[in-house]
Amino acid sequence: MYQNAGVGQGLRFQSIFENAFYAIVGVDAAGQVIEWNREAERMFGYARAEALGQKLSVVVGSDEVMAYYPDAYDSLEQHRAEITVADLHGRQFPVEITVTQILQAGAREHYVFFHDISVRKSSEQRLLELASTDPLTGLANRAAFNSRLPEAMARSRRSLENMGLMYLDIDHFKSINDHLGHEAGDQLLKEFSELLRATLRQTDFIARLGGDEFVVILEGIGLYDNAIKLSNSLLQAVRSNRWLNDDNKKITPSIGLALYSGGELEPKALIALADKAMYKAKHAGRNTFKILSDESLEAEPSVIPADGVSVAREMLGIGQHHGGDFLQRTLGSIRRHLDMDVAFISRFHDGVREFEVIDAKHEQTPIQVGDSGPLEESYCQRVVDGRLPELIADAFENAEALTLPVTVALPVRAHMSVPIRLSNGDVYGTFCCFSYSADQSLNTRDISMMHVFAELVSDHLEKQPR
Ligand code: GH3
Ligand code: MG
Repeated sequence: MYQNAGVGQGLRFQSIFENAFYAIVGVDAAGQVIEWNREAERMFGYARAEALGQKLSVVVGSDEVMAYYPDAYDSLEQHRAEITVADLHGRQFPVEITVTQILQAGAREHYVFFHDISVRKSSEQRLLELASTDPLTGLANRAAFNSRLPEAMARSRRSLENMGLMYLDIDHFKSINDHLGHEAGDQLLKEFSELLRATLRQTDFIARLGGDEFVVILEGIGLYDNAIKLSNSLLQAVRSNRWLNDDNKKITPSIGLALYSGGELEPKALIALADKAMYKAKHAGRNTFKILSDESLEAEPSVIPADGVSVAREMLGIGQHHGGDFLQRTLGSIRRHLDMDVAFISRFHDGVREFEVIDAKHEQTPIQVGDSGPLEESYCQRVVDGRLPELIADAFENAEALTLPVTVALPVRAHMSVPIRLSNGDVYGTFCCFSYSADQSLNTRDISMMHVFAELVSDHLEKQPR
């Protein structure tokens, strides 16, 4: 400590050096330690006698320091940097270093000042976490999501792997608040977050946007089938979970999933697509999911003719030439009008049901024209003989439908099917539509429309030379 006014300058500086708040290490031109103050002893754990003569990088446990220190040979400027060092026991910690070069009797010496910044670093880290975390659930918040999404999209573009953006909103959440109180609502939001964490992969990025809205970035989701399976398994997990310690408490979410396949798309547009898919799920009666892909954006104009007039025009061939693809075009038009994933016309023969015309929302379809299977294992036969109703909003809720393996395997959720009867009363086959998600909004009007189409198909077939 500097106390004595009578000491010489050398001793005075020696005292400052020894008592400095910084660890100060002197290094000679050969890179060996020539000075080692008390704070250096405390910080790195080596006594002065042990440190002297050693290589700098050894006694401060860092090769990184050498990246700054040799530079100092070239200039007399100070060098300042943040690096990680380690003490005698291998404990790593962040420091700020300042390197100063001096000329001592014609020889170069370097003085490296080390300042421990662990406390500052951990509070910076804590602040960063607070700024990016939702305080109620501990999930990432909207700000963190907004910075993560463009990165994930860029990775997807580079790796050529599909990415999914899932948007979830709890159905009728307001009524939980209204009936059980805001605290129970909060508790439910926490439990919902826990379920998402437990059900999704560790690499999936989950965030709460606010209220009862959640998003998940699903990198490397793979094919469309995976998106369907994942959405169904999430709905299943929510269904079978125990909420608020009450066996009778049931909640359901609506899920919208946007599939991104690496095209030119702004993050905002992908969010809007997932949001739109979620609203479609709400519109379909909630407790279901809808999937839209960025490819569907390009095809948007043809996806849109969801009004009865354009379907009728198509059926009647108004403004179009009647060609061999009449059934194909009309099938597509009706499928889009009903917002179903797959539509097909099947023919019954020799105990099998064969797909003759297929139209699907997505390229990958589980069925192909020409495929056939035993009638008995088909929805088609059971609708024709009355074992299954023509309209099924959710096949998972129908015991008879669940006996068909295809229901869970595909899956088939919303299903509509009507027979195609020839004028002599024989059943030619069926006209069917199905979706991978449930759709409670389907109604008897939709079925009536399918009957009209089935009649037109029958008429068309009878006029064709076969
Ligand atoms: P919908 O099926 O259409 O989603 O209906 P909903 O009742 O869930 O309505 P909506 O999603 O629009 O509203 C979410 C409600 O969540 C609105 C608000 O009262 C409530 N809410 C928002 N933030 C919180 C929160 O932090 N805690 C609790 N307990 N409730 C919240
Ligand atoms: Mg809601």
